[in-house]
Amino acid sequence: MFSYRNKESCIIFYKRKIEVNNGTYFLRVCSQSFLCKFISIVFLHYKTTVMNSRRDFLQKIAAATIAVPFSSQVTTACKANNKSYDGPALRVAIMGLGSYGTRVAEAMRDCKDAKLVGVISGHPEKISAWQSRYNIPVKNCYNYENFDNVKDNPDIDAVYVITPNGLHHDEVIRVAKAGKHVICEKPMALNAKQGQEMVNACKKANVRLLVGYRMHFEPKTLEVIRMRKAGEFGKILFFQGLSGFVIGDPTQWRLNKELAGGGALMDIGIYSINGSRYMTGEEPLWVTAQETKTDPVKFKEGVDETIQFQLGFPSGAVASCLSTYSMNNLDSFFLNGSQGFAEMQPATGYGPIMGHTHKGELAQPVVTHQTVQMDEMSAIILQGKQPVVPVDGEEALKDLRIIDAIYEACRSGKKINLNL
Ligand code: NAD
Repeated sequence: MFSYRNKESCIIFYKRKIEVNNGTYFLRVCSQSFLCKFISIVFLHYKTTVMNSRRDFLQKIAAATIAVPFSSQVTTACKANNKSYDGPALRVAIMGLGSYGTRVAEAMRDCKDAKLVGVISGHPEKISAWQSRYNIPVKNCYNYENFDNVKDNPDIDAVYVITPNGLHHDEVIRVAKAGKHVICEKPMALNAKQGQEMVNACKKANVRLLVGYRMHFEPKTLEVIRMRKAGEFGKILFFQGLSGFVIGDPTQWRLNKELAGGGALMDIGIYSINGSRYMTGEEPLWVTAQETKTDPVKFKEGVDETIQFQLGFPSGAVASCLSTYSMNNLDSFFLNGSQGFAEMQPATGYGPIMGHTHKGELAQPVVTHQTVQMDEMSAIILQGKQPVVPVDGEEALKDLRIIDAIYEACRSGKKINLNL
C-alpha cells in the first residue's frame, strides 16, 4: 500500500507528484487578508521577543541584530517561491531522516508556505547528504545529543519528529522545552499517559503540537466529511475500516515492543481508529476487541499481529475494524447512512485515494498529501487557521486513549468504556 513497502505505489507517487506540479491544484491559503499577514508577522516577532526575554542581555542584543536579516530572508524566500501568500513560511527541521522523513522532505520541495531548513540525525553521513540535497546550512544541523540547542536558533520555527514511535515522547518534550513548535508523527506516543504529558509540556512551553494526520487535508476525505456534515448520508449507522499489510523484515523497529509500542494497531490500525472518528463525526463511547496471532515468533509478546475491534458511538452508530500485519490489500473505509454511503479504497495510502458515494465517483483532485499537510500546518501554526478536522495533540490523545482501551479489551475480553 505504501511506497516504502511497495515499489509500484512509489511509481504512482512520483507520477502523481509530476501531475500535481503541472496541474492547477493546491489546497492553499490564497486569500489572506492584509490584516492576517500583518498579525502573523507580529506574532513571529512577538515570539522571538518573548523567547529572548529568558536569555541574558548579550543574547538579547544578538537576537536584535538577527531580526533584520531574518525579515529580509523571509521576504527573499517568499519571492523565490513566487508565493501569492507573502507572509513568512514555516521553517521546519526534520528529526529522523528515515523513509518517511525522506518522503516529507521531498514533498516539502513543492510547499508554498513551509520550508525545510534544518535536520536532526544521529548519522553524520545522512546529514551531509541532506545538506547538499536540500541546501541546509551547517548551523541548522543537529544530532540527538545537542538538538536542545535549537532553542538558540532563530531560523527554525518548528521541528517535525519522524522517528520510531517509542522516541516521540521524550523528543517532543525536549523540542517543546527548546521553545519550538512541534509536529510529531503518528502514533503520537506509546500510550495516553505519554500523550497527555506531551500535550502538557507543549502547553506549558506555549508552543503548538500538531500530529502528522495527513488524511485530514486530503480532498476526497474532506468531501465525504462535507457530505456527512450536510446530512447527505442521512443518519450515520455504520463504519467499516480495514487497515493492513504484510510486514517484512522481522528485525525492524516496527516489530520491537519498546520502539513501536505494540504492533499493527500502533502503525496501521490507527488509520481505522482515526478514520472511524472523522468519517462518523462522533467520539466512541465503548470498544470491544479480539486479537489473533498466527506467528508468535515474528510477533512477540506485546506486538500485535491482527486485532479486530468494534466501536460504539453516542448516536447508536457502530464501527467494525480490522488491523493487521499479515494481510495485503487492506486499505478501505465504508460509511453507511440511512440515505447513502461512501466507500473509499485506497482510503489512507499515499494516493491516489479513490472512492465513490451513492451520488457517484469522488472526483476531487489528487494531491501529494505531505505537501498539502505542511502548507496547511504552516497556516495553522503561523496564522491560527482552524483545520476542518483537528490535527493537534488533543486529537492524537483521543486515538491513544482508544488504543489503550483496545489493548485492554484484548487482554480482558471485556467491553471497555471510553471517556474521550
Ligand atoms: P524509518 O525506520 O524509515 O526511519 C526512522 C528514522 O529514525 C531513521 O532515520 C533512524 O535512523 C532514526 N532513528 C533514530 N533513533 C532510532 C532508534 N533508536 N532506532 C531506530 N531508528 C532510529 O521509519 P519511518 O517509516 O520513517 O517511520 C518513522 C515515524 O513516522 C513512525 O512514527 C511512523 O509511524 C511514522 N510514519 C508515518 C507515516 C504517515 O503516512 N503519516 C508513514 C510512515 C511512517
